[in-house]
Amino acid sequence: MMSQEIAIRSIQHYMYCPHRWGLLEIDKAWAENIFVTKANLMHERVHSPDNYHVLRGRKVFTSVPVYNDKEEYNLYGVTDCLELSKSEDGISIDDSTDKYKLCIVEYKPTKPKNKDYNEEDMMQVFAQKLCVDYIFGCDSEAEIYYADIRKRVSLPVKEMYEEYDDKLKQILSEMRKNLLSGHIPPVKRNQKCSGCSMKDMCMPKLRCPKNFKLELKKLDDSEYD
Ligand code: SF4
Repeated sequence: MMSQEIAIRSIQHYMYCPHRWGLLEIDKAWAENIFVTKANLMHERVHSPDNYHVLRGRKVFTSVPVYNDKEEYNLYGVTDCLELSKSEDGISIDDSTDKYKLCIVEYKPTKPKNKDYNEEDMMQVFAQKLCVDYIFGCDSEAEIYYADIRKRVSLPVKEMYEEYDDKLKQILSEMRKNLLSGHIPPVKRNQKCSGCSMKDMCMPKLRCPKNFKLELKKLDDSEYD
């Protein structure tokens, strides 16, 4: 039996907070906030399916659907932008005599403080690379464009290929196990919740008591104090 297909965007959700991912994917809960709305608006601007233009000699395609249906990945999603630059070391597209190298560009509203990228963003783009390379038979490069500083940052998707490949397979395996069993992972220790749109639904500070009977007894006793 083929492994369950996974949407690339959900890998990022899982890495940020497995509990949140479980609420979204298993419980089908959803709540928007200003951060989600901002990111969505930005992606809407980028995602115009008929958008194809030439920029400084590069062919730029936006909203490119991608997939990799190899058993160990079985991924699908949409890349914000795929840029083709002429290169002798590149690949031919549509039987053209010209050769191109491919670069994935992911758009993010804000650059993280004190680092070039978040791990979950890197993994999201790495998963896109696996799909683009699979479809076009290439070894694509990848960058993130940060809107707040209007700059691009190169991602080490080639240099750290094996490390990210192992990590991604591990994450996909965990996600599939949870999906199969319908288990929503618990809230991680030291989970960062600032900016999470699900806070009102999740109530992360409300912990389930270890001994439920004892907690009920305490409540009963307190009524007679
Ligand atoms: S509020 Fe915190 S624990 Fe709950 S889903 Fe969001 S990030 Fe995860």
